[in-house]
Amino acid sequence: MNIALIAHDKKKDDMVHFCMKHVETLKQHTLMATGTTGKIVKRATGLPVKCFKSGPLGGDQEIGAEVAKGEVDMIIFFRDPLTMQPHEPDVSALFRLSDVYQIPLASNFKTAELFFRNINEL
Ligand code: PGA
Repeated sequence: MNIALIAHDKKKDDMVHFCMKHVETLKQHTLMATGTTGKIVKRATGLPVKCFKSGPLGGDQEIGAEVAKGEVDMIIFFRDPLTMQPHEPDVSALFRLSDVYQIPLASNFKTAELFFRNINEL
């Protein structure tokens, strides 16, 4: 599977925690991420991650383009619901595309845990 990883700044610790916990599963998949998220996941896990631009600089849109091209099978997007994001329209657009193309999107840690429990059925 091609898995896209994105975490807003206050959720980056969650993303590192999640990726460390599931490193053996993640190893079997192809990873892509927005810039900063990708950098910290790479550093924490040593796994290869294709990094796009940072989210506020267009990274969410680049991942949206991958979704539209059929290059994404799952999105783990740990969103910060309590902080205004300058690129909120890009975030909404990515959520919308995940629905257009029926791509599973986990927006928080516990949902991502459920996805990974059933990853072979998705
Ligand atoms: P980042 O982008 O991984 O470059 O921090 C994430 C986002 O804010 O959408």
